[in-house]
This record gives sequence, structure tokens and C-alpha cells, in this order.
Amino acid sequence: MKIDILTIFPDFFRGPLDYGIVRRARETGLVEINVHDLRAFTKDKHRTVDDRPFGGGEGMVLKPEPIFALAVELSALNRIVLICGRYEGVDERISEHLADREVSIGDYVLSGGELGAAVIVDTVTRLIPGAVGNQNSTRQESFTESFTGGAELAGDGPSSTCVSGGLLDYPHYTRPAEFRGMEVPEVLVNGNHDQIRSWRRKTALAKTLRNRPDLLERVALTAEDKELLAQIKGEN
Ligand code: SAH
Repeated sequence: MKIDILTIFPDFFRGPLDYGIVRRARETGLVEINVHDLRAFTKDKHRTVDDRPFGGGEGMVLKPEPIFALAVELSALNRIVLICGRYEGVDERISEHLADREVSIGDYVLSGGELGAAVIVDTVTRLIPGAVGNQNSTRQESFTESFTGGAELAGDGPSSTCVSGGLLDYPHYTRPAEFRGMEVPEVLVNGNHDQIRSWRRKTALAKTLRNRPDLLERVALTAEDKELLAQIKGEN
């Protein structure tokens, strides 16, 4: 997959895309990410990318010319082109005549689209087959264990450690078993896989109920889930 990012701050992406899964996916050629400086596509001596808004109002707006010049050149299938807005936003003709869609990453205002683009690249890259799971054997074991748990729980095998099938993930613990008086839940160290599976499902349900109850409406709950949810509500 090829991803192109159009930005007035290309250096912003030094870092966010240079670690972990995204880094590995780039190194192994699963994804090719090119960051383009919009200023390189300006024609005037001052390399102007912004201008005052028609109709008045606060701030500046990203001009259409450099974005059209660059994005038209890049447009092709199997390619994602992310245009990072800045200032008050981008000239609306970009949205109307050039972009396929506008993407918001949440109901909050960022200073620019760069963080959003980094978020999108990260989430898209880890969905590319082979991007997650190329890890070395020290991580393979916990990954495999989680994976097996997910297959049993969800009835299929999502290739991810987030195996709670539409719920928030269950809590994870690692050594030491006791840290500053805080202990790992007993069930996780006693080795009973059926109890562990049930505990993980229950804690995933409890966390989802607490933090994202809206997700519970979209998930197909099993009879066991409904029983566990009743227990959780009884405990609170
Ligand atoms: N004037 C706008 C805010 C502009 S912020 C308003 O009142 O809503 C500048 C640019 O940052 C936006 O044009 C957009 O490209 C980007 N941006 C800000 N918040 C974002 C978000 N939550 N998701 C994606 N892009 C965002």
C-alpha cells in the first residue's frame, strides 16, 4: 500500500511513523509512506500556501493551487493521499472537487491535520496482513495465547491481540506478580484456562460497560455474556 501525506510541516512526521509496527511495515515494504511538502508546489517567490478568507473572518486558509497541483499528480488506485489542513482550514474547492472524503478523527479541534494523518496511517498500517505478527518469538507467545483466547471467545480468529470481539480489551498483566503490594489477579496465575477465558470475557464486558456502554448495543452477546453482565451489574 502507498500512502502520501501532503503537509506544510513534513518534519512533523519524523517520529510518529518511525516506531513499532509502522516502522517494521515500512522496512519490509508492506507500506510505502511519502511525505510531501506543500510549499514545494507553490510558484511564487515567497512560497505562499495560505491566504485571507473571502467574506472576512478570523485566520488564514490553505490555498487550493499547491494542493491541486500535488494531489492530481498522486491520484491513483491502491493509494491513500492525506491532505493535512492547517490554519482555519482548507479552501472548500479541495473538498468539493478533489478529495473523496473529509475525515475527522474525533470531536475535538487539533491545530492541524498532521496528528490525524499519523493516527490514520498507524491504524491502517496495522490492518495490512503481515504488519502485526511479524514480531519476534518473545512476543509470539503472549500473542498466540491471546489469539487462541479470541478464537474461543468470538468464534473466529481476529489476527490481533484485541480479542474481545467488539468489546474493549480485557486487562493485561506481566511480571512481577506482585509490585509494590499490588498483585496480579489470582486467576491469571493458577493456570486454569477455562477460568482465565471466563475472567477475561467478564472483565472486558465490565470495562466496556463502564467506559463505552454504546458498544454493548452493537455486539452479539452470548448467553454466557448476558449471565456475566448480570453478575457485573449485581456487583456494582
Ligand atoms: N476552523 C476549524 C478548525 C481548524 S483546525 C473549526 O472551527 O472547526 C485546522 C485543521 O486541522 C482543519 O482544517 C483540519 O484539517 C485539521 N483538524 C483539526 N481537528 C481535526 C480532527 N479532529 N480530525 C481531523 N483533522 C482535524
